Amino acid sequence: MDAGLLNGARDLSIYTAYNTNVDAIVYLNGDIVQRLIDEFGAGAVRRRIDEYPREIDEPLDFVARLVHALKTGKPMAVPLVNEELHRWFDDHFDYDVERMGGQAGIIANLLASLDFKRVIVYTPHLARRQAELFVSRPNLLYPVVEDGKLTFKHPREAYRENDPIKVNRIFEFRAGTRFKLGNETITVPFSGRFIVSARFESIRIYTEEALKPFLPEIGEGVDGAILSGYQGIKLRYSDGKDANHYLRKAKEDVMLLKRRKDVKVHLEFASIQNRDLRKKVIYNLFPLVDSVGMDESEIAYVLNALGYPRLSERIFTYNRIEDSVLGGKIILDEMNLEILQIHTIYYLMYITSKDNPLSEEELRKSLEVGTTLAAARASLGEIRSPEDYRVGLNVPFNERGEYVKLRFEEAKRRTREYKVVIIPTRLVKKPVSTVGLGDTISAGAFTSYLALMRKKMAL
Ligand code: AMP
Repeated sequence: MDAGLLNGARDLSIYTAYNTNVDAIVYLNGDIVQRLIDEFGAGAVRRRIDEYPREIDEPLDFVARLVHALKTGKPMAVPLVNEELHRWFDDHFDYDVERMGGQAGIIANLLASLDFKRVIVYTPHLARRQAELFVSRPNLLYPVVEDGKLTFKHPREAYRENDPIKVNRIFEFRAGTRFKLGNETITVPFSGRFIVSARFESIRIYTEEALKPFLPEIGEGVDGAILSGYQGIKLRYSDGKDANHYLRKAKEDVMLLKRRKDVKVHLEFASIQNRDLRKKVIYNLFPLVDSVGMDESEIAYVLNALGYPRLSERIFTYNRIEDSVLGGKIILDEMNLEILQIHTIYYLMYITSKDNPLSEEELRKSLEVGTTLAAARASLGEIRSPEDYRVGLNVPFNERGEYVKLRFEEAKRRTREYKVVIIPTRLVKKPVSTVGLGDTISAGAFTSYLALMRKKMAL
C-alpha cells in the first residue's frame, strides 16, 4: 500500500470537539520522592496509606497514593477533586514535558500535522497553557464569534486568559528507584506511571451559547466531524445541572452540525466507569451519529449497558473474535449506525451493513490507513508531517492478527447481512509512546472512509 488513500483524505476539512487537556509529565527519581515524604513525615504518610484515599483532596492524599503505587509498581490513576491544589503541584514539581492530551486535542494536532485542508477544533475551555499545546499550523483553526459573525483563529490566538484548565499530571517511575519510608527502604519493583487526573466541576463538555447558532455553518463547511469527550460528563453538578442536561445539549450540537448538510459524524467512545452514565451516552448519542469507534473492552461495556450481560461477559473472559463480531453487529443494528470500527491490540475491524457503497477491499484499505498512522506514532512518539506515514508503512502487520483474520474468514459465512472486514495491526515492538494510538487509528480510519465515499459518490 502506498500513501495514496491518505493523500485523498488530506483533501478534507474536519471539525473536532470537545475534550482537550494538558498532560504534564514528571520523571520521578528517589530524591523527589524522598523530599515529599520528609515534608509530611513518614508516620503521617503511612497512616494515610492505610486510609487509602480514593480521591486527592489535599497534598497528603497524593503523597500516600503515590508511595503506595511506587511500592507495588502498579500503574494507577487517582482523580484530583480540589482545584486549589493546582498551585501546590506547580510549586512542587518541574514538569519535564507538557504535551497535548484529550482526544479532540490529539486528533486536531494529528490531522493538522498531516496537512489536512482545514481542521477546526473546538474545546469549551481554552486557557493559554492549553492553547500553546496546539501545533503551529495555518490549517488549524478555532471558531470565534466576533461582532455577531463567525470567524476562525489559530487556537494560540484565541485563548481566554481566565478559562479553567484541566491538567493531568503523569508521574513516570522506573524499576529500581529507591527511597526510605521511615526506617523501611523501598525499591520500586516495576516501571510504570501514576496519574493524577483532574476532575473538576468547572470542566464541562458543551458548546458555548454564542457559538451554537453557527454550528450549521460549521457543519456545512466541513467534510466530517469527530466528536469525543462525553466520558467527562458528570452525573450531577453542584449547581443543579446533571448529565441529562449536558446530553441534551450534546444532542442539539450533532443535529445543528447536520442541519444544512448531512455531514458525517464520528463519535469516539472512551470507557465510562459509571454504568448509568455509559448507558445515557450510548442511548442519547449513538442513534444520532453515523460512525462509532471503540476498543474491544469498550464493546463489552457497551453490550452490558444495552442489556447483553452474557455476551459482554464472554468477550471479557475469552476475547474471541466471533463474539466481538456478534457484539458489533448488535450495536450497529440496535443503534442504526452506518459503520462501527473496533480497534484491538492485534486487529482492527469494521462492521457495516451489506448495502454500504464501499467494497470490502476499500474498507480494508481504510483500516490500513488507521493502523499505519498508529504505527508511525508509536515509533516516533508524535506525527509531525505527512512524510512520517512512511515510518508506519515499514512496520510489519503482526502475525497473531493474521491468524485471527484466518479464523474470521472461516467463520464468515454467518455474516451475510453485514459487511465485516478485519485486518491485523502493524504492531511496534518497542513503542516510544502509546498515548493517543486509539484516537489516531480512529481519525485515520474515519477520514479515509470519508475520502473513499466521496470518490465513490463522484463516480
Ligand atoms: P486505545 O487503548 O483506545 O488508545 O487504543 C490502543 C490501540 O493502539 C490498540 O487497540 C492497538 O490497535 C494500537 N496499539 C497499541 N500498542 C501499539 C503498538 N505498540 N504499535 C502499534 N499500535 C499499537
